[in-house]
Formats: sequence, structure tokens, C-alpha cells
Amino acid sequence: MSNIIEMKNIHKFYKNGDESLEALKGVSFALEQGEILAIMGSSGSGKSTLLHIVGAMDVADEGEIYLNGTKEEKYGVEPDATRIRYENIGFVFQDFNLIQDFTVEENVSLPLILTGEKTKEIRRRTKDILEMVGIGEKGRNPVTNLSGGQRQRVAIARALINNPKILLADEPTGNLDEQTAAGIIELLKRTAHEMGKCVIVVTHSKFLASEADEIIQIKDGKIEWQNI
Ligand code: ADP
Ligand code: MG
Repeated sequence: MSNIIEMKNIHKFYKNGDESLEALKGVSFALEQGEILAIMGSSGSGKSTLLHIVGAMDVADEGEIYLNGTKEEKYGVEPDATRIRYENIGFVFQDFNLIQDFTVEENVSLPLILTGEKTKEIRRRTKDILEMVGIGEKGRNPVTNLSGGQRQRVAIARALINNPKILLADEPTGNLDEQTAAGIIELLKRTAHEMGKCVIVVTHSKFLASEADEIIQIKDGKIEWQNI
């Protein structure tokens, strides 16, 4: 099967006055539809930098990025970056990043409302995705009434509502207890294996990594080992 996303020899430098730090030193990987990749590594190794580049939230200084088999010359560069993110990518963060004053439904449907989708279609898709993530009965609740695990499910639903091919998650179970985390891991696996998404998860959880199809261990900006 063909790759949805391929990163080739990615380098990233952070410049701070005269100082330059090479946060990524030639990282490569590729993912097919329906695969889940875990990115591991100690703090400061470059995991979030890599995820931001995959997510077109930041630009690589060297290397090539292929999306659906096509080389994207301006992957992280506006205005292409916004289009690439909108059409292809959903994000989930450790601290959920939900809008506190909104209900579950409002948080999840927001990306569709912003695109001017019809109300009936927004309702249908929001209902479907909330059911898929296991909180079908919570739509009218304010997100502040929800547990941490439920909030993360809302965030995953919001990330999936635009039907992206790639779901990125930066330590999505970092703020959750072990049992709650296990439920989220199960959901991420279903997102990959049943919905056919590419799921890329930065994690410290050995359990999460053991459940992934592929694992990359990053050390000091380089892939130290991978199970591919
Ligand atoms: P991780 O997510 O694995 O903890 P990061 O990707 O956040 O690692 O960081 C990798 C390295 O790049 C670290 O040395 C960090 O201090 C540095 N770094 C990250 N973001 C920036 C930035 N915006 N400006 C300068 N240095 C940064
Ligand atoms: Mg990080």
C-alpha cells in the first residue's frame, strides 16, 4: 500500500542570537493508511518539534515531505500550511485545549461551523463522531462537567470532525491515570485500524508504544532505534 505521509531526512535548527541548536538531525519515517506510530524519547529529544513539522505547524530547514505520494515543497509555509492542515490533519494535545465555556457539541462542531457547513450536516456528523469516541450521550454537557478521559475523547472527536487522514497526538495520556489512559489508547487504535487514519502519537507510555504498529525512539534529534 502507498504511504500517506513520508518524512525524509528532516533537519530543524532553532536559532537564538548567535546560537543554533539542531533539534532534528535527519529524521525519516513513512506511514501507510490505518497505521499507528508511537514516537518515544526523553524530554528535549525533539519529539514535539517533529510532530509540529508533520502537522505543518512548523517548517523543516532541510528534508523532503511527501503527502499522499506527492512532494510538498511548501509543507509548513503559509498559505499552503493552512490548507494542508485543514485538509489532512487533526491535532490532540496533552491538556485537551477545549473551550471551557462551550458544550461538548459546540467544541466538536466548531471546525465545521467555521467552514460554513450546513446546520443539519453539522449535527449529523457531530452526533456520529461523539458516538464513535464513546460519549454519544454527553453532547449537551458543558465540557467542564466531564472527567479528564471524557475531555480527551471530546478533543479526539474535534480533531476527527473534518475527516483528516492524519491524527497527531502529543502525549494524549500524559494527564490521565492508567485505566483512563488505556481507554484512550484503545480509541486511538480504533481510529487507526477501523477508521483508517494514520495516527502519530508522542508518548512516554511503554504500554501505548507496545500497542502501536511502529515505534520510533528519538535521542538528541536522531532516531536511536525503530521497530520497522
Ligand atoms: P521533546 O518534545 O522531545 O521534549 P522538543 O521538540 O520540544 O523536545 O525540543 C527539542 C529541542 O529543541 C530542545 O533542546 C528544546 O529546548 C529545543 N526547542 C524546542 N522548541 C524550541 C524553540 N521554539 N526555540 C528554541 N529551541 C527550542
Ligand atoms: Mg514535547
